[in-house]
Order: sequence, then C-alpha cells, then structure tokens
Amino acid sequence: MLLLRNADIFAPAPVGRADILLAGGRIDRIEPDILISENYCSIVDASSFVAVPGLIDAHVHITGGGGEGGCATRTPEIVLSDAVRGGITTVVGCLGTDGVTRSPAALVAKARGLDEEGLSTFVYTGDYAVPTRTITGSIERDLLLIDKVIGVGEVALSDHRSTQPTFEEFARLASEARRGGILSGKAGIVNVHVGDGRRGLSMLRRILEETEIPAAQFLPTHINRNPALFAEGIAWAKAGGLVDFTTSTVPAWLEEGEVKCSRGLRLMIDAGVEVLQITFTSDGQGSMPAFDAEGRLQRLDVGRVTSLVSEVRDAVLHERVPLETALQVVTSNPARILKLRGKGQLAAGADADIALLDPRTLEVRGVIARGRWLMRDGEVVVKGTFE
Ligand code: ZN
Repeated sequence: MLLLRNADIFAPAPVGRADILLAGGRIDRIEPDILISENYCSIVDASSFVAVPGLIDAHVHITGGGGEGGCATRTPEIVLSDAVRGGITTVVGCLGTDGVTRSPAALVAKARGLDEEGLSTFVYTGDYAVPTRTITGSIERDLLLIDKVIGVGEVALSDHRSTQPTFEEFARLASEARRGGILSGKAGIVNVHVGDGRRGLSMLRRILEETEIPAAQFLPTHINRNPALFAEGIAWAKAGGLVDFTTSTVPAWLEEGEVKCSRGLRLMIDAGVEVLQITFTSDGQGSMPAFDAEGRLQRLDVGRVTSLVSEVRDAVLHERVPLETALQVVTSNPARILKLRGKGQLAAGADADIALLDPRTLEVRGVIARGRWLMRDGEVVVKGTFE
C-alpha cells in the first residue's frame, strides 16, 4: 500500500488537497487525513505536487512507423521511459502507412511487452489501408477475440498515401468496427488519419448523411494540421463529432499554418465546441515527413510522446485554459471515448495511474502506474527491458 499525503488533486476536476491511498494497483480512497500505520503502508509527502490522472496517449506508433523515404527511414520502437517522461501511463498503439513490414500481430506483442514493463496498453487493428489487414481475418473478429484490440486505425483518408477507399468500402469498414465494438463491449472506434487533401472530412459527413452509423464511431485525428481542416473540425464537432489533435510537430509545420494544439484547444472552446469532444494524442514514434508540391519527400523527423504533456502545459500557461479543462483532453475524454475502464480519473476504484506535476511549471516530477513508481523526484526509476 502507498499513501500520497496532502496532494493538490485534479481528478481531472479539482478536488482540493487530500490524501490518496493506493492498494493492489488501484485507488482505495481519496480523503483528507487518512489514518493508517506506517507499518502497513509507505507514506509519501505529496504536498508539493499537483496529482493528476496518468495521461492517456491514444495514438502512438509503438512498434515504429514511417518508412516513407525508404527502409532507412523506418522509425524505431518506443521504449518505456519515453512514455514515463511524458507522464503517460496508458498508451494505444497503432500502425500507419506501412502495413506490410509492420503488422497488427507485432503491435499486440509490443503492447504486451509494455504492459509487462508497467504501462497499460491497447491497440488499433489495421493500418492506413482499406480493405484492412487484421490478425484474425476481420475487424469484428479482432475486436471480439483479442483483448488488446479496441478499434481500427489509423485508416487514411484525404491523403496521397491513402488507399483511396470508395465510400462503400469505408462504410463497410466502419460497420464492422461498430458491430465488433457492440459485441465485445469495447469502443470499436475508427481512428481516421485525415491528410492535407481537399476532401477533408467529407467522407465522414457522407457517412452521417447516408448510413445509420453515428458520428461518435469515428475519431478523426490530425485535425489541427492546417487551418482549413481545423475549421472543418469545428463544424464536425458542433455536429456531434469527436476531434483529435496531434501534438508532435516541427517548427516548419507551424510556420506553414498548422494550429498548435494548445492554441487549438483555446480556439475550439471559444468557438463553442464542447471540451468533452476533444482529445490530444502525440502520434509518437511516427515519422513526420514533409513533402514538396510534387509529393517528393524532403525530410523526416520522429514524433515524441512527451509533446502530449507539453501542449497541456502550454494550454494552461499560455492560453488561459484551466488545468482541469486541459487535463480532460488527455485523461477523462479518451478514457470515456475509448471505453478504457478505470483509466483517466482519480477516484476510488480506478486504477492507480497518477502523474505528479510541479504546481508552477507543470513539469512531470513523479509517475505511478497501476500502483508502482515509474518516476520519482523527476528521475525515471523503472526502465524498459533493453534500456
Ligand atoms: Zn496519421
């Protein structure tokens, strides 16, 4: 058992100062002045920290991604400490452009490895392509038979790297994800990579117009990639859709018009979008390719999962977004949208996933995942197998 004494708690809603008692990998209770003997429990003074739910990063290329400049540009796998440094305790792994040399089976294996090392992990089956490459032969079967699979993606639309699915192909994919989700009690989310193409979110709007599949089945990502898509995202969210922003970026993209996530959150709130419909993900370990006007690759970078907490910090420190609001997009919102039970909140019965932040700078100073310290006093104390 572990008792965190007198932390300033954001659950993500503000709770005020209280003690958090952890037992058996879960939060036993959150109360002021919990009485317990040091013989049974390790007691830690947490009065100089803000305690928040461990962050959820729901779009990470955990087995690496990229390869868009040839095989030498395939990006590396994530290691445990990458996530820990970012205050992240739950990760959803996905594939991207390359569904040939990367597979959903490898993704499940990597997710299991990260689980054994201390994180909580899930995966999307499939990759950019439609028809979808799955593990068992269908999205429905993957969702129903493989615990780690919670949806499908990232399926690419409006992008020159997309397989250019027809409307019927895409609607069929979404219907499979919906049925698989219903039958398995999972979210069955379709995570949609939206590219720079002029078609934007038109395929998703057509799904709402011509099928019975609800908007909440889709989590379109990279919504902040350019001003036109961002504006479409606001309209999509106001029509009931979910929007995911990508926190990994490079200065050149921001100069070209990408909406910085912290700023984007402020803009969406000001436009009247419900915060409940917004999530941030890092696109960590993904390649960040830049193409010229003819579609030729110019350079390549690697996304960092630590960008997730950086954008939460910037939203609070530079965009006047309240901490409890900024936290929602990386804790309670993804937990609710992806049906990750016990995740994304500090409450009795929830998993003991906690990040301790410096109250002034919001830097990550401590991380507890399923009741175990992974970072203490700003130092990573549990490393991955090969670190
Ligand atoms: Zn993508």
